[in-house]
Amino acid sequence: MGECEFIENCPFFNGQLAEKPVEIEKLKEDYCRSNNLHCARYVIAMALGKEKMPSNLYPHEKEVAYNLLAEEG
Ligand code: SF4
Repeated sequence: MGECEFIENCPFFNGQLAEKPVEIEKLKEDYCRSNNLHCARYVIAMALGKEKMPSNLYPHEKEVAYNLLAEEG
């Protein structure tokens, strides 16, 4: 799988989201650098388009992503 193709421009990866009490480096390892197919942001970008990505969504917040997909789908 490897690195996510959005890494260079992704607001999460580039530290542009409001901070949350989570281990950001671990999320980057778990999602951005190894398995973007499980990333909530990536899932929304693929299914609905990048413009539908909630501004402050973190990779592990899949429930938010699924709810959004259910609403939009
Ligand atoms: S895996 Fe998700 S958070 Fe990481 S760079 Fe890709 S879209 Fe952004």
